[in-house]
Amino acid sequence: MTADLSPDCALVLFSGGQDSTVCLAWALERFARVETVGFDYGQRHAVELDVRPKLRAALAALRPEWKARLGDDHIIKLDALAAISDSALTRETAIEIADNGLPTSFVPGRNLIFFSFAGALAYRRGARHIVAGMCETDYSGYPDCRDDTVKAMQVALTLGMDNRFTIHTPLMWIDKAATFAMAEELGGAALLALVVEDTHSCYLGDRTHRHDWGYGCGECPACKLRAQGFATFMSRRRTK
Ligand code: ZN
Repeated sequence: MTADLSPDCALVLFSGGQDSTVCLAWALERFARVETVGFDYGQRHAVELDVRPKLRAALAALRPEWKARLGDDHIIKLDALAAISDSALTRETAIEIADNGLPTSFVPGRNLIFFSFAGALAYRRGARHIVAGMCETDYSGYPDCRDDTVKAMQVALTLGMDNRFTIHTPLMWIDKAATFAMAEELGGAALLALVVEDTHSCYLGDRTHRHDWGYGCGECPACKLRAQGFATFMSRRRTK
C-alpha cells in the first residue's frame, strides 16, 4: 500500500496493543515524521507497555523508510487516573459486563484524558496530527471510542490550543478482522506475524498461552474479540 507522504509530523497514541500497532504502521506510511506516546496509568498488567520498545524497533526494521520516519517515544505517567478509577484494569476485580452494559474494565473518560495530554505533547512537538486506534465497529460500547467523541476532542483541542489539530482514527469503521487485513496490507506477512506474536490485547496480561491469534487467556472479552477477528480474517482470506 502506498499513500501520499505528508511532510507533517504525527503523534501516535501507541499502547503496544494490536490496534495501536497497526495505527503506527499506518502513520509511518503517511507522515514524514512519526512520534509515539504511551500512558502509564497503573494498569494492572504492564505487559503492553513492556512490548512497546520491541514493537517500535521491529516496525523500524521492516522498512528503511519507516525507520527514517520513526521519531521519539514518550511515556506520560498518569497516576491520577488510577487514583480516580474504579475498574478491573486498575483493581483486582473480575472483568465482566456491568449493569450499564459496559465491561468493568471501562475507565470513565480515559480517552478524553489521553487526548488532552496527547494534544499538549503534540503542540510542544510540532505535531499537527494525532493518530489513535479508537474503533466503533466491534467494541464494547465505550463512549469515549465513538467517532462523535473523537471529533469533539479534535474541535476542543483545536480551539483550546488555538492550533489546528487533526485526529486520525483509521480503524474507526473497520472490524478486528479488517484490522488484521490492514496490517498485512501495510507491512505484508512480516507485519501480520509481528502483530500476532508481539502485540498484546488480553486484559489479564496472559503471555503463556499461545493461540493462532497470539497470546492471551482466551477467555476475557479482549481475547474473545481478537480470536473471533482473526478467525474471520482467515476465512475472508480463504474465500478471496
Ligand atoms: Zn485474555
